[in-house]
Amino acid sequence: MGCLKTGARPVTGEGKTGNGIMDGNIEEIIESLARHDYRQCGCGRVSVDGGREYLKRSGGPLDFEELSEVEVVEEGESEEERQARDRGRQTGR
Ligand SMILES: [Zn+2]
Repeated sequence: MGCLKTGARPVTGEGKTGNGIMDGNIEEIIESLARHDYRQCGCGRVSVDGGREYLKRSGGPLDFEELSEVEVVEEGESEEERQARDRGRQTGR
């Protein structure tokens, strides 16, 4: 059982977890740091993937606690536009 949230990516930066979950069984935090950085928890029930590009989760919704904050990526938005939006947010605080 898996789930891939298309059109969504984790909010990263200061104080943010990024693409991560906490395993509800052994209470281990796992985090995917890059697009193909697949991480599985110690007991093997849940996993994360996708880094900063997309959120991929496997395991049942009751097996883990979601730690990521998610933002919706607008359809058709180019990588350049996304980066420009990120820069705007970083300088705007
Ligand atoms: Zn586990």
